Amino acid sequence: MAEIDKPQREVDLPGDWAYASAPESRDIVHLRDRYGYYVGGEWLEPAETYETIAPRDEEPLAAVGQATAEDVDRAVAAARTAYADGWSSLPGSERAKFLFRIARILQERSREFAVLESLNGGKPIKESRDVDLPLAAAHFFYYAGWADKLEFAFPNRRPRPVGVAGQIIPWNFPLLMLAWKVAPALACGNTVVLKPAETTPLTALLFCDVLRQAELPDGVVNIVTGDGRTGAALVESDDVDKIAFTGSTEVGKEIQRRLAGTGKRLTLELGGKAANIVFDDAALDQAVEGIVNGIYFNQGHVCCAGSRLFVQESIYEPLVAKLERRLTTLRVGDPLDKNTDVGAINSAAQLERIQELVASGVEEGAEIYQPPCVLPEKGYWFVPTVFTNVAQSYRIAQEEIFGPVLSVLTFRTPEEAVEKANNTPYGLSAGVWTEKGSRILWMAQRLRAGVVWANTFNRFDPSSPFGGYKESGFGREGGRHGLEPYLDFEESESFGG
Ligand code: NDP
Repeated sequence: MAEIDKPQREVDLPGDWAYASAPESRDIVHLRDRYGYYVGGEWLEPAETYETIAPRDEEPLAAVGQATAEDVDRAVAAARTAYADGWSSLPGSERAKFLFRIARILQERSREFAVLESLNGGKPIKESRDVDLPLAAAHFFYYAGWADKLEFAFPNRRPRPVGVAGQIIPWNFPLLMLAWKVAPALACGNTVVLKPAETTPLTALLFCDVLRQAELPDGVVNIVTGDGRTGAALVESDDVDKIAFTGSTEVGKEIQRRLAGTGKRLTLELGGKAANIVFDDAALDQAVEGIVNGIYFNQGHVCCAGSRLFVQESIYEPLVAKLERRLTTLRVGDPLDKNTDVGAINSAAQLERIQELVASGVEEGAEIYQPPCVLPEKGYWFVPTVFTNVAQSYRIAQEEIFGPVLSVLTFRTPEEAVEKANNTPYGLSAGVWTEKGSRILWMAQRLRAGVVWANTFNRFDPSSPFGGYKESGFGREGGRHGLEPYLDFEESESFGG
């Protein structure tokens, strides 16, 4: 056979398959130099301001008002006027139109909001774009649907609005937490004064523009910014009828103490230390993805994060090996880069808290694994971390770290898994990985957690109630349950009575 001349061409193979950067343009966001408070449909000039920054590089973004107790009282007065002047008596079908409009505008402006959320909060753009914004719009759509059906949601109970709601939200999901709180409040005919977190006020301030676009009557939603002092002033403001708070258990307890005996309504959505439980019959690769999503999503700044991983002893070694290998593929870096999996830590204070707890884990004897990772020089960063050899008594297994840090523990039997999972002062969420449906139900009945995910984690839907047991708080947000905290009921006579 004749020899065939093979072409001797040198192929230039890249030696490195690293991702090229794919930064999202921030030109779509136009920030003012200075923001006041949005009260009664007007911008009030603040006497004192502070600087809000981008945690990815500490770039100053804008000066934001530090509201005083008098500023808060003006906002509450504006909310009371709007409540009495027609919002509370507007037919539900009319209120629904405003909520639908807000939802549509959020969809139309979602890229702008997503970029700003990532810039001010540090979360990866793919999360703010694909999770925070779609879910925020979905909450307004969902509660728009309830606004004219409250009588049917609560038959024979004559629902009516509570009044003025004071709402205090954290920095981990700034716009989404706003949506969770504002949408049901308005659907039920209440008016609102909302305080965003000190470090992430900008999407709430941009939301005021949406309110104007939607032509929501002045004073129905008012936004005051500032630190914990502003939140405390809102809690203590005399004319507030209800407080809805999401944040730390410590501040939640303080608020509960202050409101005791005042007759003001209260819902608290607080911390968590969720157990993510993997049985030996689970699909391991799928479980690894769920574990990664459970704890490294939003840098672990998630109240329901799966921060305690319980692995059945027989699969401990292969699972941990798979998990550690998967960690080496996570891309940590610029939140505005579309390839980024883990963004910046929200603030210097939070970074310090994570570092302190991680140091305690090492000191107490746990084994630490961190993948090789080059962190940006400026800004606040923490390498995704796994602790093995963790005892239940260690602080990293007990306290909420609120960072990209996972503690791995083991169990042998389902009973032991339940006992260990429930061994926490919290009770917000849990995850179960197994192929047996009956075991999922058995576990879900015994886990003291407000949400139990099965073969998935961190799934949210506006129609599904969310909230905690024990020190994770009380009251539910989302779903029909999420309407109740914003309603009073006149029990009516039973049918035919
Ligand atoms: P906080 O509980 O302090 O913050 C939540 C909100 O409450 C913010 O808007 C905050 O304002 C406000 N606030 C603070 N003090 C008071 C007060 N005395 N009265 C009324 N409102 C107040 O949480 P941190 O930001 O300090 O985070 C600390 C820890 O809390 C985290 O490490 C994490 O473990 C946990 N956390 C849990 C969250 C959850 O979703 N369950 C969310 C955030 C934090 P400001 O931002 O200005 O301080």
